[in-house]
Amino acid sequence: MDENSHSLSTTPLTDSIVHSPYQGQEEELLPMASRRNIAPAIGIDLGTTYSCVAVWQNNRVEIIPNDQGNRITPSSVAFAEDGRLLGDAAKNQTDVNPTNTVFAVKRLIGRRFSDSSVQNDVKYWPFKVVAGPSDRPRIVVNYRGNQKDFYAEEISSMILLKMKEVAETYLATTVKNAIITVPAYFSDSQRQATKNAGAIAGLNVIRIMDEPTAAAIAYGFDKITVDGNNKNVLVFDLGGGTFDVSLLSIGHGNFVVRATAGDTHLGGEDFDDRLVDHCVKEFKTKYKKDIIGNAKSLRRLRTACERAKRILSFSSRATIQVDCLYDGVDFSTRISQARFEELNKDRFMRCTDQIEECLRGAQIDKTGVDVVVLVGGSTRIPKVQQLVQDFFEGKELFKGIHPDEAVAYGAAIYAADLHGQRKKDMQNLVLVDVTPLSLGITVKIYEGESAETKYNNLLGEFRLGGIEPAPHGVPEIDAVLDIDANGILTVSAQVRSNGAKNEIVISKRNADLIPEEIQTMVEAAARYKAEDKELKMRISLEDFVEKVKTMAMDPGLSDPEKKSMEEAAENVIAWLETNHAATIDEINKQKRELAATIRRLMKLRRGGIPYDEVLLLSLEEEE
Ligand code: AMP
Repeated sequence: MDENSHSLSTTPLTDSIVHSPYQGQEEELLPMASRRNIAPAIGIDLGTTYSCVAVWQNNRVEIIPNDQGNRITPSSVAFAEDGRLLGDAAKNQTDVNPTNTVFAVKRLIGRRFSDSSVQNDVKYWPFKVVAGPSDRPRIVVNYRGNQKDFYAEEISSMILLKMKEVAETYLATTVKNAIITVPAYFSDSQRQATKNAGAIAGLNVIRIMDEPTAAAIAYGFDKITVDGNNKNVLVFDLGGGTFDVSLLSIGHGNFVVRATAGDTHLGGEDFDDRLVDHCVKEFKTKYKKDIIGNAKSLRRLRTACERAKRILSFSSRATIQVDCLYDGVDFSTRISQARFEELNKDRFMRCTDQIEECLRGAQIDKTGVDVVVLVGGSTRIPKVQQLVQDFFEGKELFKGIHPDEAVAYGAAIYAADLHGQRKKDMQNLVLVDVTPLSLGITVKIYEGESAETKYNNLLGEFRLGGIEPAPHGVPEIDAVLDIDANGILTVSAQVRSNGAKNEIVISKRNADLIPEEIQTMVEAAARYKAEDKELKMRISLEDFVEKVKTMAMDPGLSDPEKKSMEEAAENVIAWLETNHAATIDEINKQKRELAATIRRLMKLRRGGIPYDEVLLLSLEEEE
């Protein structure tokens, strides 16, 4: 298995980790009568490359479009000179601000800086990641002229905040309650860190849910027990940067993830890479020029290749075209679906290898798989669909729900169910997610597959007081490892000899945050949010000034009137240039004063001017 492959299997699950979704959630669940007028709970698929938010409303799931009208939002955060940008706005300026545009932070969350996977990733990222306290990764950026560093949870919280705001705009109400999905193989630390990110974003995370489980719920497979038997559902999830296969056993409202496999570094971006390589070679052959090394040309080419790749999912040919790609030379080439498939043959084949790995982990034969579900934008590629279908000897593939929305879709259904917003058709649903890594207990608690602790991951240590002096091997201690419905581990213990309950303290795990740190981050998040608002107000004032300048060009105005308008506009421009740290109130004051000046000028005019009404309307809008 190569470094990026992951697979795990699980032995039959013990009672201690079987939960009703309602267990431990009582304080979050309200009686039916009080639920009518509360804001709906949302489902968020927090992806490596893209995120998606959905809500149950009007008796159906609605995928919520963002401010750009897009149903998925890049999981990117940028720190620009004048403020923070989230989602599409962040991704769109990556070219001009690569070192301060942070993406793929899901690869860092809940991990240590020295993890080999982190070490491998950071090598290729244009933004800087360093080792922070307790070996936690810190992302270093330049924000408004100062160096700032953030934990992965903080960057994730910014993406979650964006998704929260997208939902709030759509629903015209404040949203607090949310389910966030994570890969089934996420460790306890990764789940806890994701939950913390939600808290920093001001969300009440009612559940951390496994992505394949959410996809299965989207298709209603909670209701498919036939002849009293469980169904085996294989979820094949090929997204932008990651590939996960999971085998779920579903029946009587229970979901158990029996095994997962996949590749944390295989997805649509790898297929784009192959097209880019192909074009770079063609450009070199045709024009004797090498664009490797020119980041901007490469990025523009990559965008065109990704577009062509999407077209090739529906058409047998596509054109890749970039004007003035490099050294003033335009580039255009036609590519066939067959050529695209050939270029990616080995990568596509890796997908079926991982299906086999997953089935091995679950100890079932492919004929034992009842249902196959396709998730992730890259499963739109016909060749990928064909390979999966051939592997399962023609079995029907479930792909009716947009593959990049299916996870958020299922999370929204479950969120509504937990929050009492859906009718009783999901009653008694029980989710039992895979224990991501098996646990070994010594004095220290480890997760990992090796029998030797040195190869496993130290989760924490506990001190157990009150054990009476006794010969070696005599004291017996009952330790309970309890994984709650979010997959989060707590450890408790009792001394058997005297029945005394001893207190056990699990020391802070390296990758985790303590409540005080979370509180500090919540406060910082509020400050960043206020700064975002400042930036919005500043942009709005700049737009207003531009409008006034356009008005001043109207031939219906006298020269002194034009001059007064221009001067008023120029004064505000000068003020903006010298007041970078202005507060929202100060910016608003400038706007009001400029509006008042323009109104005064209008009143002074006798006879009125035709654009008078338009201008006033625009002023009112601006205010
Ligand atoms: P996801 O992470 O599930 O949102 O998937 C994102 C990936 O899906 C990106 O790499 C996209 O380029 C890819 N994708 C989206 N639509 C298509 C399509 N029609 N054909 C091929 N790949 C697609």
